[in-house]
Amino acid sequence: MSLKNAAPSERTRVKRGHLRANYEKQTIHDILDAMPICHVSYILDGAPVVTPTLQWRQGNHVYWHGSSASRMIKKSAKNQVCMAVTILDGMVLARSAFHHSVNYRSVTLFGKASVVDDPVKAEASLRTMVEHLFPGRWELLREMTDKELKATTVLSMPIDEASAKIRSGPPVDDDEDYELPIWAGVIPISHSIDMPENDPRILAGVEMPDHTKNFKIG
Ligand SMILES: Cc1cc2nc3c(=O)[nH]c(=O)nc-3n(C[C@H](O)[C@H](O)[C@H](O)COP(=O)(O)OP(=O)(O)OC[C@H]3O[C@@H](n4cnc5c(N)ncnc54)[C@H](O)[C@@H]3O)c2cc1C
Repeated sequence: MSLKNAAPSERTRVKRGHLRANYEKQTIHDILDAMPICHVSYILDGAPVVTPTLQWRQGNHVYWHGSSASRMIKKSAKNQVCMAVTILDGMVLARSAFHHSVNYRSVTLFGKASVVDDPVKAEASLRTMVEHLFPGRWELLREMTDKELKATTVLSMPIDEASAKIRSGPPVDDDEDYELPIWAGVIPISHSIDMPENDPRILAGVEMPDHTKNFKIG
């Protein structure tokens, strides 16, 4: 299914390095789906604060959650926020310090954060978060209690005002610098996931599920 792309707004139009900009919904969704860590920024007592947290996507909305008492949750709810999601793909070593760079895929997203008030919808959304990370896990878990649901607030924001910026490939040096005998290139970076470790209190005979063995990011 093809997604309807939104034109960049005044604040999402990439000005610096505009050739690296991408406003396609599919590209933005792919980056959000590939990196669960986001940074949410909001205003607290008149000054900006940035909080790292987890995000997940459902259709055209991005979601994040936290303790209902969390400052980040209380201050972003019903307010304008800016969210950034970043994937570091490589270090780019050029022949001059000036042209060193990084390969990356990133998304910047603006909008008003809404509270998912309906507990049924909030729980469904938390389920999506778990299933997105560990397919098949939700069914294995004990049910959430009303108290746990009350203690958790889920926020959401439409993915309507967003930009992606992507850099890939080798360094871009000044023409004359290609004559210099200096190593240049890219050090690729990817996540490595190690063997899961059993909780020491796990019951005898409980096997490690496939979603644990096959866990990957993105
Ligand atoms: C891992 C990483 C490392 C970086 N390192 C550096 C660095 O060391 N120095 C440096 O100057 N820049 C770096 N950048 C690029 C940086 O994110 C900005 O794009 C750049 O600094 C220009 O900022 P600006 O506010 O002038 O952009 P503008 O082009 O004025 O921003 C306008 C709008 O474009 C969009 N936009 C801008 N940057 C991004 C982005 N990265 N992803 C998605 N949308 C974006 C936003 O919607 C923003 O509101 C890095 C990016 C990443 C992801």
